[in-house]
Amino acid sequence: MRGMNTSLITTGDIVKRFGAVTALAGVSIDIAEGETVAIMGPSGSGKSTLLHCLSGVLVPDHGTVTFAGTALSRLPDAQRSHRRLRELGFVFQDSQLIPELPARENVALPLMLTGTPTRSALRAADETLARLGLAELRDRRPGEMSGGQAQRAAIARALVGSPRAIFADEPSGALDQATGHEMMQLLTAAVSMAGTALVVVTHDLNVARWCSRLIEIRDGLIHSDRPLAVDRSREAEAIR
Ligand code: ADP
Ligand code: MG
Repeated sequence: MRGMNTSLITTGDIVKRFGAVTALAGVSIDIAEGETVAIMGPSGSGKSTLLHCLSGVLVPDHGTVTFAGTALSRLPDAQRSHRRLRELGFVFQDSQLIPELPARENVALPLMLTGTPTRSALRAADETLARLGLAELRDRRPGEMSGGQAQRAAIARALVGSPRAIFADEPSGALDQATGHEMMQLLTAAVSMAGTALVVVTHDLNVARWCSRLIEIRDGLIHSDRPLAVDRSREAEAIR
């Protein structure tokens, strides 16, 4: 596992506007390697915008985002998206799997898009699915999976390239509570084993409790930022 105190993502006073709307009004955060962070706040408070700025999907109007020592906002678009595919993983509210492809090909996609030969990308996908206890999903298309299984496959896709950080925006938003709980158990166990940082946007405190830190956003500003007690024993049974 990587050191917990080395900084992975640092934002310096970032501001992001959409026309007249100020989505982020000056946010400074430091996220360490391997840290698990939940972001909560009312609808429209800027959570998704913050996640997009942290992950280089959006470039802030002012301020900087530094990822592993590189100023993301200064990279040309092509380089930024290459690094995003290589070093970051994403999980969304709906799995966003490609319906035509079986799970293993969906999971292999981030590798194939960045030039890994198909054969090794598929091998890595199979290994990741197996490591997460999802080998049975390998040949299933999204239409042949439950919502919870599709989210698990999406977690495998996020992890396949051994990213340094995973970003999840309301990952359990479309799942019932028990399935959401299992999904968070799998996700947090996997990042904990790999030393991957995790940033999860959620409006559910039960989801946030899987993380070791809670940041509350209001009106585009950090309202509070505090540690959470994580019960690591809950992770134990997730991965065999
Ligand atoms: P949250 O995820 O907390 O619900 P968002 O970050 O999505 O909030 O949005 C923050 C504010 O920015 C909202 O007022 C939203 O309407 C606005 N906003 C977000 N994305 C866009 C966009 N692409 N175009 C215009 N306004 C946007
Ligand atoms: Mg949002």
